[in-house]
Amino acid sequence: MRIAMIGSGYVGLVSGACFSEFGHDVVCVDKDAGRIERLKRNEMPIYEPGLDALVAKNAAAGRLSFTTDLAAAVDGADAVFIAVGTPSRRGDGHADLTYVFAAAEEIARALTGYTVVVTKSTVPVGTGRKVAEVIRQTRPDADFDVASNPEFLREGSAIGDFMLPDRVVIGTEGERAKKILSDVYRPLYLIERPIVITAVETAELIKYAANSFLAMKVTFINEVANLCEQVGANVHDVARSIGLDKRIGPKFLHPGPGYGGSCFPKDTLAFVQTAREAGAPQHLIEAVIEVNEARKTEMADRVIAAFDGDVAGKTIAVLGLAFKQNTDDMRDSPSLTVVPALQQAGARIRAYDPAAMTEARKLLTDIDYATGAYEALRGADGAVMLTEWNEFRALDPARMRQLLTGPVFVDLRNVYKPADMTEAGFRYHSIGRPVPG
Ligand code: NAD
Repeated sequence: MRIAMIGSGYVGLVSGACFSEFGHDVVCVDKDAGRIERLKRNEMPIYEPGLDALVAKNAAAGRLSFTTDLAAAVDGADAVFIAVGTPSRRGDGHADLTYVFAAAEEIARALTGYTVVVTKSTVPVGTGRKVAEVIRQTRPDADFDVASNPEFLREGSAIGDFMLPDRVVIGTEGERAKKILSDVYRPLYLIERPIVITAVETAELIKYAANSFLAMKVTFINEVANLCEQVGANVHDVARSIGLDKRIGPKFLHPGPGYGGSCFPKDTLAFVQTAREAGAPQHLIEAVIEVNEARKTEMADRVIAAFDGDVAGKTIAVLGLAFKQNTDDMRDSPSLTVVPALQQAGARIRAYDPAAMTEARKLLTDIDYATGAYEALRGADGAVMLTEWNEFRALDPARMRQLLTGPVFVDLRNVYKPADMTEAGFRYHSIGRPVPG
């Protein structure tokens, strides 16, 4: 099976590398020449655990290669996957499909023989049909089908998610397309992963419904955490107990500073836009978006309140900037709201993140970056935990307290045990948990 992957970002690169691990011949394409040059030298343009080894192995085996030449990659491919970005369009929250349609046009010009053109990017209902129109208009003679194959991998555990997915969704009507995509995913049939074959529109909607539901779950537990704080209950006991109910499930019930990242914020926005236009508004998800946006600002207020309402002239150590652990992705990270709000209130920020500081430098200003967590804490007036990196879990509370000049620690990820932090001399604030006396 010959595969061309258009777009070599988080999704394209991981999917391409995993398809080559399945034994297919994969060419990953990107229009960013610097990115392709780095990939050819086996330098990963993104931080994703295990990716460098997987890419090196399959490149060495001759099954995975990289190019900026889309036409050469598409020529003779059985399946061409579109994995370009679909960010929020400025102003209205719609998914910006410029990159998708531009890629479709380029692909159309390069098609040779029968090809399935598969949208892996997250795209609103109806996009698959429009991609087909673009291809037909550009190349009336082209022999192709379109398909939708939304991706459910999570950054930070992307390879495991791709190789062992809860399900694969394939939306297509064409019999030849079904056959090719079944062959592409054959290794997953063999290990009995569920494959759902459906209409294109349904597949497109599944992805938005899944992400919206997960965003709703996160937002739900965040609001329950607020209530726990008011009544002296423990949100982790609530989450664990409701999560043990199989109808609810334990995942995505961890309270925090609000969801962020490259998917939930933009996908929930696009979902409600599509729904409004279709005359079937999604009131629940509209509320989720509003509550989550407000939460990020509330988190900054919470930090300021922990410093008795005044952070002016104070140095605050910030641990973690990425939107979650194990990624360098800063897109829509809560830190992009919390850090500027603290700066606005007069605080100086000293920050450390194990992977995201390069990305953070492009998006945040006036930050003093530290080389390690303890280094960030040294001499600061207090600390805020924004991302739950594993390496932060192992930090010693007593040593952290010694390094800080003041006792305030605001843990927005509930990484530490309240008793340990109080014992170490901290005024410890976390989310939805009682702090011992
Ligand atoms: P990304 O920004 O990391 O990567 C997109 C890449 O496409 C970039 O490198 C860009 O240079 C390239 N590109 C754009 N137009 C191109 C063209 N015409 N030809 C060649 N290359 C082109 O984006 P991402 O995070 O990988 O997301 C891609 C899609 O997958 C989005 O629709 C996203 O919603 C979806 N998705 C993302 C994740 C995730 O965790 N990141 C998970 C599931 C689905």
